[in-house]
Order: sequence, then structure tokens, then C-alpha cells
Amino acid sequence: MIPITTFAGQTVAVFGLGGSGLFAARALNEGGANVIAFDDAPLRLEQAKAAGIATQNLSELDWSQVEALVLAPGVPLTHPMPHWTVQLASQAGVEIIGDIELFCRERAKAHETLGIDCPLVAITGTNGKSTTTALTTHLINSAGGDAQMGGNIGVPVLALEPFAPGRSYVLEVSSYQIDLAPSLRATVGILLNVSEDHIDRHGSLENYAALKALLVAQIEKGGTAVIGIDDLHTRAAADRIERAGRNVVRVSVTGPLRDGYYAEGNRIVRAVGGKAYPAAQLAGIGSLRGVHNAQNAACAVAACVALGLQLPDIQKALVSFPGLAHRMQPIGRKPIAGGAILYVNDSKATNADSAAKALASYQDIFWIAGGKPKTGGIESLAEFWPRIRKAYLIGEAAKEFAGTLDGKVPYEIVEVLSAAADTATRDAEASGLKEAIVLLSPACASFDQYPNFEVRGKAFTDLVLALPGVASVTRTV
Ligand code: ADP
Repeated sequence: MIPITTFAGQTVAVFGLGGSGLFAARALNEGGANVIAFDDAPLRLEQAKAAGIATQNLSELDWSQVEALVLAPGVPLTHPMPHWTVQLASQAGVEIIGDIELFCRERAKAHETLGIDCPLVAITGTNGKSTTTALTTHLINSAGGDAQMGGNIGVPVLALEPFAPGRSYVLEVSSYQIDLAPSLRATVGILLNVSEDHIDRHGSLENYAALKALLVAQIEKGGTAVIGIDDLHTRAAADRIERAGRNVVRVSVTGPLRDGYYAEGNRIVRAVGGKAYPAAQLAGIGSLRGVHNAQNAACAVAACVALGLQLPDIQKALVSFPGLAHRMQPIGRKPIAGGAILYVNDSKATNADSAAKALASYQDIFWIAGGKPKTGGIESLAEFWPRIRKAYLIGEAAKEFAGTLDGKVPYEIVEVLSAAADTATRDAEASGLKEAIVLLSPACASFDQYPNFEVRGKAFTDLVLALPGVASVTRTV
């Protein structure tokens, strides 16, 4: 845990006691603050009390005594309506911040008072944040560094190891968290992409894009802003931030650049003043298939070069990147006559957009899809039908998906994952293909049959690994 000393002796209100809020309360306590915490859920209040944290209904608090309100990232700050704690804090003129802000202030203090410099890589974007965060951490650690990974990726930032010389921090930061971290100053900021998402919370796409761009606009002095420029918002942000005198490194997967990093097939090329140099090779790296992963990898490579890593070390580490669980994760391989079946768990693909990324990354797919359907179904995936040998439909969506596929792609309604794994294996074995892909990429939520996408992905992985002749290729971070 990272004790927060910047509020020592002061009163801090904490609202929202899920993972990161609870750690914020504990870290503030540990650093000598007078913490008063609250949550609507009685169970969370009990957990906080058990962890030695004082709790009180914040609506009964004397806000004139409060120095700051620490808010969990899920609690609405502005849209659709400010949460009642936000209203009370605003009326009393109390600043409203999140756990990443606490981390940043403590990091600045460690620098000023102890002379400890810990590089901070902060990563945001609409898509690819977790992959890029895990990959960047993996690259640094494989090259002999000491990188701590946290933030939106699931490990609360204040749960990480304390500041120490030579240690770096790689944080996945959501737009919600940027909103609550005005002094987030990264050594390297990465903005991957911006597309329509979470508009409900930020009011408009412009607000959302501007917020995301703040993470790279506010990099520390001498820092680097790595920006994927393949959409209009990020392209404009890169120009604007460069004009403001920051060091901008552009990344593209849609075409060559004069300066920056771009993808050319499976290769990542580094361009300096119009001259191109090979930077990295992604061919054969199962965990980084697809153009979207080239964007993630190019940004991670650019960040690591900015941190001083050497390209040969980066290349070596790329090859051993295990990938993230449930995101196009290779899990098993079964030799068949003339080739092999590769089993891929993409349970995180809970909508058609996400499934499109996986379908675009493979050929000869035996596709397992279905679950609790989302509006729009799978009509938008029509361009991938030629890649699909056969579809195996499960859950509530099976009939609807069958209707979409009818006459275009062979399909079978198998209802459940176990039947899907068996039937797809049988068909893939009979195909005689060199590489047959059995892919779970449901394009649906899991709630009709599973509590969440993780349990669904784990169930699929267990089923696959229990099939005769399947060898595990699972390694996750
Ligand atoms: P996030 O943390 O931003 O949700 P993840 O790294 O967990 O992103 O990836 C989730 C899904 O988003 C992937 O399974 C893939 O479908 C898609 N994805 C990943 N990276 C990108 C990218 N750079 N551009 C577009 N889509 C992506």
C-alpha cells in the first residue's frame, strides 16, 4: 500500500467503498488523515469498519471541516446529474478528487522531499487500455525493470508498492479517473484512440475527447505524449499539444508517418524525419494479433523507447507477452491431420464491435457466439461472414443470430458452451485445415447463463482443456 501523507491531520471524506475507494480510505488513514467514509451499500460499510475506517453518513457531516472529498470513479461527477455528495462538497467549496490524484500528489511529494523519482506511464483511450497497460508493464519488467501496474485495470493504484528508487508505475486511467485527477502529470502519457463511448457520463463526445486528451496534454516537463492519431479527435489533440510545446510521438496503423511509429503489416516501423527504421516485429505473436493490437503494441513500444529501453530488449519481451485473459486469448492447441486447431477465448467481446476485432484477426473460424443479446445484434458483422466456416449459437440470442446468418453462414444452435466446444472441435478436425480457429467471441453479454464474462471465459477454457489431445497455451498476466 502507498500511504497518503499529503492530508495528514486533515479531515477527508471518502464516498464509494468498492476496491479503489476502500484502499484510498486505508491509505489516507495510514498517512495520518482523519478519514470519514461512506457508501450506500451496508456490506461495504461493514467491510470499511472491519478495516478500521471511521464511517458516517456524509449527509450529516459538517462539510466546513472537510478538506477534500475522495470519490470512487463510478460515482457521477457531472452527468447525468452530480451525485449528492458532489453537491454537498461543491456547496461547501470542498475539492473533489480521486485515488489517482492522491497518488500523483504523493509522488510529487516523494520527488520534492525525498528525491525519489518514479517514472509514471499513464494510459487512456476508448479501446485497448488494459492490453496496452499490461503490455507496457511486461516490456519494462522483462527488460529488467521494476514496474508496478494498476489503476482501472483492476488493481487500485494505492494498493501498489510504495515509491522507491528505480520503480516505475504503469496506470490504466479511465475518463472518469482523469476527471478526478487534475494534477496527473505522466512521464509518458498514452492516448490510444477516441470513439463514441461513455457519452452518458460526459455529456458529449467533445467533452469526453477533451478529457481524454488532458492526460497527454498535461505530461510532466520533459515527458512524452504518445498519441494514436487514427481518429479525428486524437489527431487534432496531437497537433494542439505539439503546438503547446510538448514532445509528441504520433502512432498510426492506417498509413506511414514522417515522424513517429506506424504499422506496416505485422511490422512496427519507426520514422524519423521521413527515414524509416524497423522497430518491432509482431508476426507469430499470438497475443498481439490484429490491427487493433498493432496500435496497442506500437504505443507501448513508443512509450518504452521514451523511457530509455532498447529495441532488441523490447522485441524479446514482445514475443513472450502472454496477453490478457478473455481478450482474444489463445488457450489451447490440438494437433489434427495436416495442421492444428487453435482455441481462442474472447469472452470479453460482449458486443458486435468487439467481436469484429477478433473476427478480423483470423481466417477459417469456427465461431461460438450468443448469450444475452444486445440491440443491433450481429448484422454489422456481415463483412466477416466469408471468414467463418461455421457458427455455433448459444444462449438467448441463438434464434436471432440464426435468423441473421441464415443462407449466408452455416450454423448450428447448440444452446450451451459444452456442446459448442465439442461440435466445433469435431467440425474443425474434419476440415483438414492447417490452422482452424475455434473462437469464443460471443457478441453478447453473459448474464443469461453466467454471472459475468470472466466466468464464461473460464468455463470455456476449462471445457477446452478437458478435450482429448488439447495442450494448454494459456499464460496470463
Ligand atoms: P479496454 O481496457 O480499453 O476496455 P482492452 O485492452 O481490455 O481495452 O480490450 C478490450 C477489447 O477491445 C478487445 O477484446 C478488442 O476487441 C478491443 N480493442 C483492443 N484494443 C483496441 C484498439 N487499439 N482499438 C480498437 N479496439 C481495441
